[in-house]
Amino acid sequence: MATGKINVSVDNIFPLIKKFLYSDHEIFLRELISNATDATLKMKHLTTIGEAKVEYGNPIIEIKVDKEGKKLHIIDQGLGMTEEEVKKYINEVAFSGAEEFLNKYEDSAKDSGIIGHFGLGFYSAFMVAHKVEIITKSYKDEPAVQWSCDGSPEFIMEPAEKDTRGTEIILHIADDSTEFLEDGKINSLLSKYNKFMPIPIKFGMKTETLPKPEGAKEEDPAPTKEVDNIINNPNPAWTKQPADLKPEDYKSFYRELYPMQFEEPLFHIHLNVDYPFNLTGILYFPKLSNDLNQQKDRIQLYQNQVFVTDNVEGIVPEFLTMLRGVIDSPDIPLNVSRSYLQADGAVKKISSYITRKVADKMNSLFKNNREEFEAKWNDIKIVIEYGMLSEDKFFDKADKFALYPTVDGSYFTFGELQEKIKDTQTDKDGKTVILYASDKEAQHSYIETAKAKGYEVLLLDSPIIGHLMQKLESSKENISFARVDADHIDKLIQKEETQISKLSDEEKETLKKELEEAITDKSFTVQLEAMDSDASPFTITEPEFMRRMKEMQQTGGGGGMFGMGSMPDM
Ligand code: ADP
Ligand code: MG
Repeated sequence: MATGKINVSVDNIFPLIKKFLYSDHEIFLRELISNATDATLKMKHLTTIGEAKVEYGNPIIEIKVDKEGKKLHIIDQGLGMTEEEVKKYINEVAFSGAEEFLNKYEDSAKDSGIIGHFGLGFYSAFMVAHKVEIITKSYKDEPAVQWSCDGSPEFIMEPAEKDTRGTEIILHIADDSTEFLEDGKINSLLSKYNKFMPIPIKFGMKTETLPKPEGAKEEDPAPTKEVDNIINNPNPAWTKQPADLKPEDYKSFYRELYPMQFEEPLFHIHLNVDYPFNLTGILYFPKLSNDLNQQKDRIQLYQNQVFVTDNVEGIVPEFLTMLRGVIDSPDIPLNVSRSYLQADGAVKKISSYITRKVADKMNSLFKNNREEFEAKWNDIKIVIEYGMLSEDKFFDKADKFALYPTVDGSYFTFGELQEKIKDTQTDKDGKTVILYASDKEAQHSYIETAKAKGYEVLLLDSPIIGHLMQKLESSKENISFARVDADHIDKLIQKEETQISKLSDEEKETLKKELEEAITDKSFTVQLEAMDSDASPFTITEPEFMRRMKEMQQTGGGGGMFGMGSMPDM
């Protein structure tokens, strides 16, 4: 047996580690399983290139809880370590890594979020253990060794009995961390962080039902067998090539990601790029429920199939945070604050790549299957419209496929609409006036009047449409929006005067007077021209600017429905 002292400038790094990111103690398991995975993948590589002349086999990683002994075991069949390697990698590399990390980020640790997710590595075990042992045997023909350390900079190294290749990490769980001896807790951590890691992970056994043997009677129970309980899917859909996946595969992966979601996603977008950054993933447009605040299932960020976070703020443009799915990239720096992240060059590129891919996908759906696109428009419009408002590049792309439905259920792009109405809906200044309704029932008579005059009336009812209209008015030439009950409708230049009033001039005068007396709000005007249509005898209108002013006052000043800089909580 030999003892030694870990070369470290901080007197005792362990209290620091323990204190570090208190709320995130649980990441120790992910770190240790990541190391076990790395060791296994390295073994695979070495056998593949012929460097190691051993059988790779079908290695798994096993997690075992010893509740009585208060121990947690993480066992791999990876490349293992020799005594020299333990000294080098555990005592020096891992330690200096942990120390450097702490020195660098201790101050910013309070900046929570992504900080502290990666970097502590092996030594994060001391957040939950008062003593850690490593029993390891290298694939090289050398004796197994055992290393142990009780949380002081001193360690013990001695020969060990282990015939099989690989590494076993034994955590002696501290009294304040006994929750990590509960099967339920370990299960939930495994399914949070390790669900898609590339090496099979075993936690306990499970009973598998076998097919009944031939000739078995109806009442005979089906035979069962005890098998390894593998908790992960080592080959998730996003790691495959889009060409190898069918629409059904994307749907079943969605269910795998969100087992509690019963609605099918509307569209998916497969992300796959390796230059100038590496990123894979699948994004889904979910069918958002009416309760937009209930958005628990969010986009998950992975690094090489290891779950990092489901808070992708700063990585994915804000308007796309309503989507679901997975992005996996080793190129997103994780040990930094959110504000740094947003300024990072690689992250900026990733964000605009994702935006472009979403726009391209929408555009190709629009072009190739317009009918389906129209059918789903109502469910996706909020994302597209918000994107058009918040990102100019997205606006330019989406302008070609964003749809404007009419009250009669047809859909126009902006270009199509403009073409259709440019000769019939022009005001005296030569502006094309786009009429819209926001409530088909309440504005029924106005809609009918406008239709009788041959006007197109859009049905625009999304919560942010007001902002989008302003944006369109300012970015397009010579157009303006007017609600169908505004006074614009009668200022439009009509091609031909077709109808003759059914009332005499005198009758009109009397009726107008009576109506005006009845209406107390002087911003409204009474118009009898509408009487010419069969739909309604007269209309009462309000100037568009008055209506908008009132709306602004109602929603608390110029901010509109919500501040332009931020999303509604959804
Ligand atoms: P990192 O994984 O970032 O290198 P860690 O602190 O997690 O840092 O691990 C330090 C080193 O210890 C690893 O690089 C590896 O060489 C070695 N190591 C840790 N766990 C294992 C393991 N299960 N099998 C083989 N080597 C390991
Ligand atoms: Mg590691």
